[in-house]
Amino acid sequence: MGKGHFEPDKSTKIQFITGFRLFRTASKMGTEKSQQLFEEAQNYFPGGVNSPVRAFKSVGGTPLFIDRGEGCRIWDADDNSYIDFCCSWGPLILGHANPSVLKAVEKVIAKGTSFGAPTRLENELGKLILENNSYIESIRFVSSGTEAVMSAIRLARGATGRDKVIKFDGCYHGHADAMLVKSGSGLATFGMSSSSGVPESSSSDTIVLDLADQESIELAFQNFENEIACIILEPIPANNGLLIQEKEFLVFLKEICTKNGALLIFDEVISGFRLGFEGAAGWYDIQPDIITYGKIIGGGMPVGAYGSTKEIMQHISPAGAVYQAGTLSGNPVAMAAGIAQLTACLEDSFYNALDDKADRFYEQLRQHIASKGHQVQLNSMGSIFWFAFGASKDYRKASDIKPETMDIFNVFYRHLLENGVYFGPSGYEVGFISIAHENEDLRQAADAISNALDQTF
Ligand SMILES: *Cc1c(COP(=O)(O)O)cnc(C)c1O
Repeated sequence: MGKGHFEPDKSTKIQFITGFRLFRTASKMGTEKSQQLFEEAQNYFPGGVNSPVRAFKSVGGTPLFIDRGEGCRIWDADDNSYIDFCCSWGPLILGHANPSVLKAVEKVIAKGTSFGAPTRLENELGKLILENNSYIESIRFVSSGTEAVMSAIRLARGATGRDKVIKFDGCYHGHADAMLVKSGSGLATFGMSSSSGVPESSSSDTIVLDLADQESIELAFQNFENEIACIILEPIPANNGLLIQEKEFLVFLKEICTKNGALLIFDEVISGFRLGFEGAAGWYDIQPDIITYGKIIGGGMPVGAYGSTKEIMQHISPAGAVYQAGTLSGNPVAMAAGIAQLTACLEDSFYNALDDKADRFYEQLRQHIASKGHQVQLNSMGSIFWFAFGASKDYRKASDIKPETMDIFNVFYRHLLENGVYFGPSGYEVGFISIAHENEDLRQAADAISNALDQTF
């Protein structure tokens, strides 16, 4: 996956030492095959991986190579099993190897994998989404979340005839040049690229501000009157911890965009189809101008999408002048997986059932944390959760997370693995619950996580 919010350079030395010690512990569980595979992978791939956070660099040690998954469980190359809360970073809302997704894929793949011409399946997924989502009228399928965001920004610029983009520190939007930007010094100044290889000309139109700070946004609109094409944010920021915003802030963004002729983009690559079928737009009942999707939309296959009103989408080629294309866009096998998964999500009370069991799981964990007085807070929204180590408070902006607390997470992480629980390997990553996590699995997982917390503190 293309994950990788920008992990601030955290006390790397301490981390390395901690990582090494824990690496020893891990090897006692028997992860030799993963270690061998990782060593081999170093010969082929930079850092041994095809997406950075997979390399376990922030938690230390060797990444587990996964052999298979079923329901809420995964098995590594050494046949250790784990209850999985990473769920491929969010896409697998039905869990691993869901039979209806697999069946749909098998049926379609037998007819060929790609044609580069339209297929009936694109209509089917398009219709399924548009008929059940009142916040968009027209949609374009692409192959990843990064591509969806990159295209949505181009659309916003094309539709407004403006160049500047406001984004927020603590939101991740994939790895397009204009989004690989961190805040510069001073209020409402242009960002600096957060990756080598991103020219200043690509980052100089991106303004990076703090979440939950209305004043700096007002100031940016004053300073750059009639220049701002759009504001983009994760309405439920879940790539840098879980920085839940107040609804008031989201309403403010909508209003200030409308007032200034700018577009509001909700990046719902995580929240889309997770907090209800209509995602965060539906959860808050706020109408953004453009919405991006990814992850869940493809049922575990590479699909992204962006949608808006018919009017705004008319700017997209070949209807309009904003160019965007893809050899594998709307790929039939990926569409089939998406149709199967979203059909299941549309079943009666799917989201109620998911959120109910998630709540029960959180409750068990919160009771344990309170009874032991552990210095950790469990933040959650629907089936998304995140452990915040350190002082308890509202976590709203990136700077509310202290990098030092990651050292505690990294110890916790190793204990999680020893207790048979798999999370994304970084303390900045959230966890996901799928419909395949049965109450009994979640009880067992909460016991294991509680145990890992006791061992950590
Ligand atoms: C994962 C993610 C992306 C990038 O999607 P990829 O499919 O990894 O390119 C963009 N925005 C958000 C909010 C994401 O969570």
